[in-house]
Amino acid sequence: MAELEGLEFGKSDFVLLDEVNMEQFMENLKLRFEKARIYTFIGEVVVSVNPYKQMDIYGKEAIDAYRGRELYENPPHLYAVADAAYKAMKRRAKDTCIVISGESGAGKTEASKYIMQYIAAITNPSQRAEVESVKNVLLKSNCVLEAFGNAKTNRNDNSSRFGKYMDINFNFNGDPTGGHINNYLLEKVRILRGGSEEMLGSLHLQNDPVNYVYTREGAASTFYNTRIMNCVSATPQGNLQFETDSESVQVVGSEAVSHIAGLTTTEPDNVTKSLLYRTVATGGGEVIEKGHTEKEACFGRDAFAKALYERLFCWIVARINAVIEVKDYNPVLHGKNTVIGVLDIYGFEIFDNNSFEQFCINYCNEKLQQLFIELILRQEQDEYQREGITWQHIDYFNNQIIVDLVEQPHKGIISVLDEACLTVGKVTDTICLESMDAKLRQHPHYTSRKLTPSDKTMEFHRDFRIRHYAGDVTYSVEGFLDKNKDPLFQDFKRLMYNSSNPVLKEMWPDGQLSITEVTKRPLTAATLFKNSIVALVDKLGCKEPYYVRCIKPNEMKSPVLFDDARCQHQVAYLGLLENVRVRRAGFAYRQPYARFLQRYKMTCEYTWPNHLMETDREAVEAIVTQHGFQDDVAYGHTKLFVRTPRSLFTLEQERAAL
Ligand code: ATP
Ligand code: MG
Repeated sequence: MAELEGLEFGKSDFVLLDEVNMEQFMENLKLRFEKARIYTFIGEVVVSVNPYKQMDIYGKEAIDAYRGRELYENPPHLYAVADAAYKAMKRRAKDTCIVISGESGAGKTEASKYIMQYIAAITNPSQRAEVESVKNVLLKSNCVLEAFGNAKTNRNDNSSRFGKYMDINFNFNGDPTGGHINNYLLEKVRILRGGSEEMLGSLHLQNDPVNYVYTREGAASTFYNTRIMNCVSATPQGNLQFETDSESVQVVGSEAVSHIAGLTTTEPDNVTKSLLYRTVATGGGEVIEKGHTEKEACFGRDAFAKALYERLFCWIVARINAVIEVKDYNPVLHGKNTVIGVLDIYGFEIFDNNSFEQFCINYCNEKLQQLFIELILRQEQDEYQREGITWQHIDYFNNQIIVDLVEQPHKGIISVLDEACLTVGKVTDTICLESMDAKLRQHPHYTSRKLTPSDKTMEFHRDFRIRHYAGDVTYSVEGFLDKNKDPLFQDFKRLMYNSSNPVLKEMWPDGQLSITEVTKRPLTAATLFKNSIVALVDKLGCKEPYYVRCIKPNEMKSPVLFDDARCQHQVAYLGLLENVRVRRAGFAYRQPYARFLQRYKMTCEYTWPNHLMETDREAVEAIVTQHGFQDDVAYGHTKLFVRTPRSLFTLEQERAAL
């Protein structure tokens, strides 16, 4: 228990609340934020509130204080969790992972960087050069990714436009040997706006990060690609417009076209052609060119910009991976290769207007919640078993039913969406919604406006609602089909494949297919996303998880403002109250006998000033009995298990009063 701070800073663990309800939770969260205590535990989970100011809590002193210590020996901190994950990995040879979630601007990426820095600081005490260089590259890969993948949005000046999962590999000494990054690039479906100048500015292209990570040649093409990425992805908002004159569609002005052609080393005429026409195969196998409508041209342009951005970014990630991958690892020589994974991924999103992107993000969070339930409960059960304690079943809401609603084959929402996308002929969003209604009307977590005719506010049938574990979200189905199809006309792929820039060509191998060879049924965006999240969950599922839950205190980036309503909303959808309840339903606290004794011996006449008992365990029993909470504990082989926090809380108060 992290009790080194006085009570004037609030309770350092939400498990210690007198009662688990929203009011008390919020009161404690707010008090701690106001006292500059930005971290609070829920058992082993760290809840973090973005301070929006530099905190003097990450220096060498702090690192030393947390290194090798137990969670409850220090105030709550990211370092406590990082150390717990590292210890489990090193002492018990467990693969571990740290899952960081929260909404945009809540502090996920900052948290992931502090965690990486902590791990870098506590490893390789003997300063071996090759390990130092691995650490360096790992830390710097972050800068490169941020430089390319972050942008300024109205919610966060330095917003990650991608979800990131990074594995750090360790040798038997517990020193880093390399790593691997997976990116979950959902953001391409969002509008890429602004940030171009800053992105370039933040690259510091002449100095360290890029040159360090890439070979000379790599750096050059990377620089080149950034320019492409920035310019082309900025195009839709900017200077590439269409106009319709006497029935045919034209590009307005020629500058934008030559700009793109110049950057992608393609012919301006070909760029124009790709923008205005698409090649289609007729039923009879004939290949014809069909002019776009203005709307189609805009659609194609945007899809092209997004695809370019995505492929360039993935290429950069692949380059980084090639540099940081573990090389020449011989398990016989080097022992078991263990891993700590760090996941920095978007949290639940509930906006006024929720679309396909929110649907995907929230589905991802349902999956992570499912994993959380499974792993946390499993972890608890394992510990009780190890310690010889009878496990009592906890009733909790299992969100598998919502996961099924989204992903079940043939019946789930994604499957209905995919079916609609693959249907030939005019299928509109509304028709798709109707078939969803038909299939899912009975589902307890699904409703749609049409099914609740009492709601007269909606004239058109275009909404459906999912009762997520974190709350109800109403999605507007408008645009779902287009975003799910995410079609990029083959003409653009061919254009890129024919670029005389070899790197661009390499990124577009599918551009060599002729229109008649193109696979008829490419995987949809939702299915691709689902597959990547399923793979992620599998990866996390075989690791011991640690959690950081980030909260954004206000929309103004203010270090003093605690917006009650906004915070409460986040606490609700991060499922934090439920988290406290699950934690308290079992044994909320456990401490090795020796440590417990050390901490509380002065509160009992049998243990203070003289230790009158034979064993630590007996001494602990004496303390527990003297304070009258013997019904609230269980004695494990090596640890005392305490069910409710009140008991420990009483002890803490007595100890403080002495
Ligand atoms: P997104 O989902 O948009 O990527 P995020 O959750 O990754 O958002 P961050 O970029 O980590 O958010 O944080 C946003 C900003 O908040 C940072 O640029 C920084 O100014 C501030 N911030 C976050 N955490 C801290 C911290 N621990 N100390 C000081 N400032 C912080
Ligand atoms: Mg981020």
